[in-house]
Amino acid sequence: MQKFDIAILGGGAAGIIAAISAGRKGKKVVICEKMPQLGKKILISGAGRCNISNHDLSEAHYNPEARGIVKSVFSRFGRERIEKFFNELGLKLYSDGKRIFPVTNQAASVLKVLEEELKNLKISIEFDFEVNHIAGSANGFIVKSKSGKTISCDSIVITGGGKTYPSLGSDGSCYGLAKAFGHKIIEPVPSAVPLLAKDRFCHLLQGQKIQCIAKSIIDGKIQKEIEGELLFTKYGLSGTAILDISEDISIAINRLGKIGVQVSIDMAPFIDKPSLKKEIETRISRHFAIENLMIGILPNKFSLVFRDLFKGASVEKIVDMLKDKRFDIIGAKGWNEAEFTAGGLDIKDIKEGTLESKLKKRVYFAGEILNVNGERGGYNLAWAWASGFVAGLTE
Ligand SMILES: Cc1cc2nc3c(=O)[nH]c(=O)nc-3n(C[C@H](O)[C@H](O)[C@H](O)COP(=O)(O)OP(=O)(O)OC[C@H]3O[C@@H](n4cnc5c(N)ncnc54)[C@H](O)[C@@H]3O)c2cc1C
Repeated sequence: MQKFDIAILGGGAAGIIAAISAGRKGKKVVICEKMPQLGKKILISGAGRCNISNHDLSEAHYNPEARGIVKSVFSRFGRERIEKFFNELGLKLYSDGKRIFPVTNQAASVLKVLEEELKNLKISIEFDFEVNHIAGSANGFIVKSKSGKTISCDSIVITGGGKTYPSLGSDGSCYGLAKAFGHKIIEPVPSAVPLLAKDRFCHLLQGQKIQCIAKSIIDGKIQKEIEGELLFTKYGLSGTAILDISEDISIAINRLGKIGVQVSIDMAPFIDKPSLKKEIETRISRHFAIENLMIGILPNKFSLVFRDLFKGASVEKIVDMLKDKRFDIIGAKGWNEAEFTAGGLDIKDIKEGTLESKLKKRVYFAGEILNVNGERGGYNLAWAWASGFVAGLTE
């Protein structure tokens, strides 16, 4: 049986960088990866462009319970260290607003420079090695694969990811490995995910995009408000504004079993209520047909829904419907359409600064497997890089 200083379980963003940081310290490292290839999720990130980080990188962009641990990790490996790390590997970066991308606009370039560094550091990689058991040994651990292969190591870094896009490798199987050490799992739910709404509006307007302000409403209270793109779909609502407000909604419905969850859409964010009222009154005085009241403000396809919606309504009511159209949300799309996992390993049992388990010495965790959820905009990969690098130091 081969013996290593450190075994990295899962070769995604967090696992690859953990292997690099351990290898640079002169450790003998192996990555155990269940797929025949590393970093499959890196390749699809940012629609193939890979939004690797964000200029405004701070703990404020993560779930409140994770902010302490995120801060402790970014203080060791934050935005500047992430950029320097990639620059030194030869990956040139540029900014699109606050988002940071490779100049090639190719996620494949990100994976390539990482793979070259793994080669350079002579990191061993076991492909098709789906870890399904970790046993204690006299000096460390024996890691076993589903097909019966074993390796021995002194320390372990578990970087098996969350549950999104299971066909790319991460299906939550590493939660079981953590549970065996006594770790608690906060129920994982899909995040950055389209929402399901039973509403004729969605059906009739499917495929139509508009700029809007979207608000999530849970227990009658507004949770989050985002201005961005809304896409109507056959089953409900999608688009960046919806993905950005979806986390609280998915947790409320999928984890907490709440009902009465709504999304409010302001379909005309660029015009205030009094001006919109005046505009509609002018159009009525000019004998616009009711279905055409919003032509030139909203796409023509909206005429399909406005005849029924506005029939018999006062101008005030029409304005309310346009500025605060409510959709009852009945669920979220599943793991195959979610960008992130909300939930995962409870971070109360993880040491700040080093990411070592408080329950088992020489076991470390990094990346999406932890209950650390960043906003869209490079925050989840930034967490994977930073936490992977820090965990790989295994001090
Ligand atoms: C469509 C999409 C687009 C995204 N775009 C962005 C973006 O632009 N910017 C951003 O910041 N974030 C983005 N994300 C999120 C980001 O990609 C993830 O948060 C990040 O890749 C997580 O890295 P990870 O290493 O923790 O997990 P993963 O990348 O999921 O890697 C886990 C690895 O572990 C392996 N594994 C799992 N179980 C086992 C096992 N039992 N044994 C051995 N190996 C195992 C898996 O095969 C996988 O290779 C996107 C996600 C998706 C789905």
